[in-house]
Amino acid sequence: KLSKRLETVVSFIPKKSKLADIGSDHAYLPCYAYLHGYITKAVAGEVADGPFRSAQKQVEKTGLSQVIFVRKGDGLAVIEPDEVDCVTVAGMGGTLIAHILENGKEKLSGVQRLILQPNVGAHVVRNWLISHGWELVAERILEEDGQIYEVLVAEQGNGLKPYNHDHIEAELLLGPFLLKERNDIFLKKWRSELEHWKKIIAQLEEKALTQESMKKKQELERKIQLIEEVLR
Ligand code: SAM
Repeated sequence: KLSKRLETVVSFIPKKSKLADIGSDHAYLPCYAYLHGYITKAVAGEVADGPFRSAQKQVEKTGLSQVIFVRKGDGLAVIEPDEVDCVTVAGMGGTLIAHILENGKEKLSGVQRLILQPNVGAHVVRNWLISHGWELVAERILEEDGQIYEVLVAEQGNGLKPYNHDHIEAELLLGPFLLKERNDIFLKKWRSELEHWKKIIAQLEEKALTQESMKKKQELERKIQLIEEVLR
């Protein structure tokens, strides 16, 4: 059984895709996607030795060595141009996901859909997408084992399209679709972020403010204001 988090990622894979799952670790995602009829083949990429071997083992154990190719390498370096039409990158920080996309962007020209699941820093991913002509087409937020996860789905197109120019900064941070939907998990996430930032400000104020901590405090206050405004 796959985690709800990875199941949500898989649910966005178009039927009959050729998939690359980057940072695949145990390769659960491509195995599940194949066995449930989402994909016809996959490349499972891993940069680290242990996870690479665990992906190989899982693919062998599942009897899928003919359709899931486990390759060792950094990010999108493991795929040939036009080899896949869908890419998943899940379970890493947003900054690392954006790096992987940036470093391999010449491999993405034949790719139709990206499904990205940043554990933190989703705004870094949204920023990358917007400035590289990838249009956000859907977003999900979910909670599993006390953790809140976001899933971002993008296709080639007009990166600016889902955003509203009046509050693009808030939308980049919170997610344009998630902000519109405002479900309970979304509200829970941002209320707890607000609380967390307010606590940091209180801690900063306890000590004598230096120029640096003053700057940090102002940044946090600005983010708090930005979010409180759109959550109101
Ligand atoms: N995608 C799986 C999931 O969501 O459950 C595994 C997530 S695991 C926390 C992150 C994996 O990404 C690790 O196995 C790590 O080795 C791999 N990774 C990190 N940077 C990478 C890179 N530049 N290229 C390929 N894999 C990478």
